[in-house]
Amino acid sequence: MDRIDTHCHLEAAAFADDLDEVLRHALANGVTGIVAVGVAPADFADQCQAMTQARAEGLSAWGAFGTHPWWSDRVGVDEALAGLERQWHTDERPIAVGEIGLDFAQADLDADVQNALFTAQLDWAAERDLPVILHERKSADRLVYWLRRHRHAGGVVHGFTGSPQQAQAFIEQGFHIGVGGAITHPGAHRMHRMMRDLPLDSLVLETDAPNQPGHDHRGERNLPGYLPENLASLAELRGMEANELLERINRNTRQLFKERLGYNAGDSSQRTEPK
Ligand SMILES: [Zn+2]
Repeated sequence: MDRIDTHCHLEAAAFADDLDEVLRHALANGVTGIVAVGVAPADFADQCQAMTQARAEGLSAWGAFGTHPWWSDRVGVDEALAGLERQWHTDERPIAVGEIGLDFAQADLDADVQNALFTAQLDWAAERDLPVILHERKSADRLVYWLRRHRHAGGVVHGFTGSPQQAQAFIEQGFHIGVGGAITHPGAHRMHRMMRDLPLDSLVLETDAPNQPGHDHRGERNLPGYLPENLASLAELRGMEANELLERINRNTRQLFKERLGYNAGDSSQRTEPK
């Protein structure tokens, strides 16, 4: 059965020296596919190269491209949109726009600049019927505010830190919630309650590797091969057998990416016609 990491930063410096090992470790742990998520146009070429390497190792790989809010002080709206437009005309066509969003925990990043960068990319995605991958930090209400006022094609809130009510507001907007390493921490009771109660149809799995390692890997870099640990924690919380849960999650993942996962999959058995 497919095990897809919906959020991994393959081109990260932390993977530069041993990406082949990282990819083999993922395969050995049953991961079958990775959605590589971009952070800035200057890194898109490295990201594509890492995706090619993932396919060479036998994984499926797909690309989401976008400018992350942490780059909002260096990448303007025009540059961000030009980067997306360039990528759209390559063989590595985005299956989603991300990582985009708002980070209000970073006091040095101007909120107005972030809002402008986010909404411009949200609009660009909507024009192409692409889902968006959202970075949310102390910004859930503002993100929902924009989603209610802009046309969009849904997406996923990744590394979600908000309340169950905020999660519900995203779900009402047609969004999924990414389940990452945070769920593996034994003391994360608030998170556990939320992940137990959210509609099963709204959940997808992610690692955010090399960031946000789970409980057993505190202080280390995170790896896409740790994805099954997040699945196991979620299965335990939901009182479900892992494979039964995974089947549901896979359905959600396909729906999230609007059946584009066949595109550039690097696996002819899974390939569907690109839209
Ligand atoms: Zn990320």
